[in-house]
Amino acid sequence: LGVIFLTLYIDSTRPDIWFYSVPINLVIIIGLIIAVPNKLIFRAIPVFIFSIGVIIEHLRPEQGIHPVGFRSMAIAIVIANVIGWTASIRMYRYRRDQFKAQREENRLRKQVEFLATHDSLTQIYNRHQFMELTNIEFQRYKRYHHSFVLLLFDLDDFKLVNDNYGHRAGDLTLQKFSSLVASQIRQTDIFGRIGGEEFALLLPETCKECAIRIANRIRKDCEQLVLTRDNEIFHITTSIGLSQVQTTDGSLEDTYERADKLLYQDKKDGRNRVAY
Ligand code: GH3
Ligand code: MG
Ligand code: MG
Repeated sequence: LGVIFLTLYIDSTRPDIWFYSVPINLVIIIGLIIAVPNKLIFRAIPVFIFSIGVIIEHLRPEQGIHPVGFRSMAIAIVIANVIGWTASIRMYRYRRDQFKAQREENRLRKQVEFLATHDSLTQIYNRHQFMELTNIEFQRYKRYHHSFVLLLFDLDDFKLVNDNYGHRAGDLTLQKFSSLVASQIRQTDIFGRIGGEEFALLLPETCKECAIRIANRIRKDCEQLVLTRDNEIFHITTSIGLSQVQTTDGSLEDTYERADKLLYQDKKDGRNRVAY
C-alpha cells in the first residue's frame, strides 16, 4: 500500500517524469497480482484502484502530461493487467492440479500400504503383517516382560464346505468368521489370516485363563454362526491352539510352534475344541 500511495503521489506531483513511472506501475500491478499471497478479492481491489487511480491521475488537465505519456501509461496498465491476471490464472490452475495430484498420490500410497499389509478377502492383516506386528510384541515381552497369548485357529473340515456349498460360499464363510473374531477383540489385539482357512490372534497383556475364556467364546460363537448357500443353512466349527509366551521362548517361532502342536492335537481329539 505504501508503494502504491508513493507512486501515485510521485505521479501527481512529478508528471514530467512519467516515463519512469510507467515501468514502476507495471511492476507494481504484476507484483500485486502474482506475488501477494492472498485471496483473489484482496488482490483485485488494490489492483483495480491503483490502475484506475493512475489513469485518472494522468487525465487531470492541470497535470499537463504529454499525450504520448498518457497513452503509454494507459497501455502499460492494460498490458500489466492482462499479463498479471493471465499468469495468475495459470499459476492457480497449476497449483490446483498439483494439489489434486498430491491428493491422488496420498490416496494411492495408502491403498498400496493397505494392500501390502491386509488380506484381500477378509480385510484383516495378512501373514506378513501379522508376523511383523507379533514379532514386535515378542521383543516387548523380552524387554519389558509384557506377557501375551497366541491363538491359532483352523476351521474344521473346511474342504467339505467348499465341496458341498461351493468355493464362493467358502469365501463368504471365511469373511464371516474373520468378522466374528474381529468384533470380539480389542484394538490392541493382533488378528490375521495366516493361511487358507487358518487365522491367528495375539492377545497382549492377557492372562492365560482370560485367553481361554475368549477362545471358548469365539469357538461357541463360531458354532452359532448361520451360514447360507441359496436357501440352505450350514454351520462351521473351529479348532484353537492356545499358547502363552514363556521365558524359555527364544523367538515367536517357539510360541507359535507350541500353539500349532496343540492345534494338531485338537484335530486328532475330534475338532471344535480349544487346546492349551
Ligand atoms: P481340518 O479339519 O483337518 O482342518 O480339515 P480341512 O478340510 O479344513 O483342512 P484342509 O487343510 O485339508 O483343507 C483346507 C481347505 O481350505 C482346502 C482349501 O480348498 C480351502 N481353502 C483355503 N483357502 C481358501 C480360500 O481362500 N477360499 C476358499 N473358499 N477355500 C479355501
Ligand atoms: Mg488348515
Ligand atoms: Mg481346516
